[in-house]
Amino acid sequence: MADVDFAAIRQQFPILDQEIHGHPLVYLDSAATSQKPQCVIDAESEFYRTINAGVHRGAHELAARSTMAFEEARAKVARLVGANSEEGEEEIVVTAGATAGLNLLATAFGNASLGRGGKAAQRFALKPGDEIVVSKAEHHSVLLPFQELAYRTGATLKWFDLTEDGRIRSDTANQVITERTKVVAITHVGNTTGAITDIAPIVRRAHEVGAVFILDACQSVPHLKVDFHAMDVDFAAWSAHKMYGPTGVGFLYGKRGLLEALPPANFGGSMVELAWMDKPAEYMAPPARFEAGTQPVAQVVAAGVAADWMRAIGMENIEAHEKAIAGELLKLGDIDGVRILGPRENVDRIGTVAFDVQGVHPHDVGQFIDSLGIAIRVGHHCAQPVHRHFGLYASNRASTGLYNSVEDAQALVEAVSKVRPFFKV
Ligand code: PMP
Repeated sequence: MADVDFAAIRQQFPILDQEIHGHPLVYLDSAATSQKPQCVIDAESEFYRTINAGVHRGAHELAARSTMAFEEARAKVARLVGANSEEGEEEIVVTAGATAGLNLLATAFGNASLGRGGKAAQRFALKPGDEIVVSKAEHHSVLLPFQELAYRTGATLKWFDLTEDGRIRSDTANQVITERTKVVAITHVGNTTGAITDIAPIVRRAHEVGAVFILDACQSVPHLKVDFHAMDVDFAAWSAHKMYGPTGVGFLYGKRGLLEALPPANFGGSMVELAWMDKPAEYMAPPARFEAGTQPVAQVVAAGVAADWMRAIGMENIEAHEKAIAGELLKLGDIDGVRILGPRENVDRIGTVAFDVQGVHPHDVGQFIDSLGIAIRVGHHCAQPVHRHFGLYASNRASTGLYNSVEDAQALVEAVSKVRPFFKV
């Protein structure tokens, strides 16, 4: 790991410099949303102060500058994830977030199933007897859009099972994915377990049978170096707000050839070459085809700043820094009556550590921890099947960002060790 001063980087986050209930804030809820460095906050307001205008329209100078800033941001985001961004080769679509990107795909596949998009789109079409494959570790924003797609098309939803500690059973790829499988949608990192999925065997098998592979990259892009070309994924969706960028925007990666074949999912302004009253419109090439309506330009520009800022720190450095904190968080498992829902070894996992405190409801745990100034998430984290896998309905979840320190994790472990004595269980 290069010598990066993460304590100094933490100073770039104004929100972290405050007390909660009389204690210094320890923010361990970055899997829900990350905090924003000053440069990202400034980028958004600077955009509004200096170049705010609609993009891709209007002949005036501000519109041109705004368009340039928007496209530069797309290129910055593309560089973070190993995607193309040259004009005519763009592989990054702006969305309203991971959920929107995943729904865009499911809707577009549904449209292809109705014959929209012509012959080229037939590779995405589903019919009764076809299969869609997900896993039990999916966030509801993967599970539900593709489950609904199955209902709409008559396709069958199948899923990967999990190991006892919550890893997706990649070793069963050859059985779960069959010649009938058309779509495979899998999380790169479990938002509850923190486990990094061994996606290579799944991608390989999906392609062997001609299926499209979709990656939920929400919990990997902020923490790991990813290269979608090297990983050979067909599509990937994630949100800017978890990678130190603003809320309200996200990105969908698609291999250029697939984006060109994919029919649109949302319809409106700025996405057609020609529109008629009496015949279907002719849609623009990607990415514009998927970006109907006025775009959240300020937020996209700020997300581009976040992407560059992360690259400047170095994804390998971020990964190593958070790994050390994860090691400390995993000591939660040594506390009497505390069970970790996910891999207990600090291998192929990130610093997202969900845990159950025997005999104490997660909301009580969360409130007790909050009273000490520590922010964690409680509930089912929009991932009910994985909780059912562990025999629970809800849990507590601590999750790191690059601004956390080993001391933050130690503070949590100490706080959690007091929970059962406090509640007298
Ligand atoms: N997938 C995973 C793994 C997530 O953690 C989240 C965010 N909780 C999402 C998808 C959905 O992201 P968003 O709510 O930003 O659209």
